Amino acid sequence: MVMTQRIAVLGATGSIGDSTLAILAAHPHDYEVYALSGYQRLDKLFALCQQFIPKRVCVAVDSVNEFAQRLNQAGLKIDVVGGAAGLIDIATDSQVDTVVAAIVGAAGLPSTLASARAGKRILLANKEALVMAGQVMIEAVKTHHSILLPIDSEHNAIFQCLPPVIQQDNTQIHERSHGVRKLWLTASGGPFLQQSFSQMQKAGVAEAVKHPNWSMGQKISVDSATMMNKGLELIEACHLFDLPENKINVVIHPQSIIHSMVEYSDGSFLAQLGSPDMKTPIAHALSYPARINSGSQPLDLYALSALEFIKPDLQKFACLHLARQAMQSGTQATIVLNAANEMAVAAFLAGQVRLTDIADINEQALSQVQVSTLSANADIDDILAIDGIARRYTEVLIAKMA
Ligand code: NDP
Ligand code: MG
Repeated sequence: MVMTQRIAVLGATGSIGDSTLAILAAHPHDYEVYALSGYQRLDKLFALCQQFIPKRVCVAVDSVNEFAQRLNQAGLKIDVVGGAAGLIDIATDSQVDTVVAAIVGAAGLPSTLASARAGKRILLANKEALVMAGQVMIEAVKTHHSILLPIDSEHNAIFQCLPPVIQQDNTQIHERSHGVRKLWLTASGGPFLQQSFSQMQKAGVAEAVKHPNWSMGQKISVDSATMMNKGLELIEACHLFDLPENKINVVIHPQSIIHSMVEYSDGSFLAQLGSPDMKTPIAHALSYPARINSGSQPLDLYALSALEFIKPDLQKFACLHLARQAMQSGTQATIVLNAANEMAVAAFLAGQVRLTDIADINEQALSQVQVSTLSANADIDDILAIDGIARRYTEVLIAKMA
């Protein structure tokens, strides 16, 4: 008899949440939606509770009572918990097999780390968790025999192109033992690929979040426009695959058909192709090592035009360069970069700074914020302390610029 996988979707009201729940709804015998979380979009969360009837749900601390009442009135018996502690409670619930880590930003770190320490199977979308706490996360995964499966499309593509022996223990990739020479992260180049820097400078929010190929949440859409997203993904890949940043190349591939590649020492490049639809990597990780129908549109190879590959312009997309620099400096620098970037993106979305100011803010934070090197036994409190210092610095910087 096939066991039903019990799933907690943290970040259920977001874009990754949508794609995940569409797959889960299509396979009700294989997956049980055990828990959901939302934050501000509570009407949407309520509708999801009516549709999936999870056992547990997490909202912001201030919303717990009202949301619990609303569920009660609708006759839904669902346990409601709140805030960061509630997310951790759900992530470590003994009934949960799989945690889909799809909260955006640093807010996703504590529950993702808790899932690892509880030995869960983790479908990781929240790249910021690895950017902030890569070593701590990977250590926790190994110690507690958690299974970490990337659903960020590039990392999922690389995972699929790696030999099974590495997939099962996705650390320690060596050219000699596995023949892996380099990883190639593909990037769409975002909405400003064909535009000048001065056009980018004038861009409003609507233009910046209008991604050419993918439909995503606002923060990651802005990150794609500045290519900070690829910078964060570079750091994510270093941790996931245990490689230094100089073993990972970035190439712009505007069609977003090849989702990333692994280059082998014999000259082979293995690539994963598919329609730009997050349901494919999510379904892959949900059912791994089996395969299920994701509901995504199959790729129509006859309808495809040429596939292009372009070297990124690091002056126009300075964030990509900053991410390499931060990775070379160490985790304290990647924490600072991530914190500054979250603040800068929020300021851009609030109309306080220009899109092109994001790279300047990130660069200043990286060079000016004074933090000491993280020790080998650093834990989440040390990481959050650096995150806090960087946020305070960036807040003042943004206030001066706005
Ligand atoms: P969305 O903005 O669409 O969704 C974010 C989710 O996080 C929502 O459920 C939101 O709740 C919740 N949330 C936001 N802030 C908090 C908080 N402080 N505490 C608890 N929950 C919070 O983002 P995406 O789905 O696009 O992205 C989610 C993650 O996945 C990001 O880390 C992103 O980088 C990564 N990712 C996304 C991809 C995509 O295609 N969208 C592709 C690859 C990676 P609410 O909406 O109710 O406020
Ligand atoms: Mg990605």
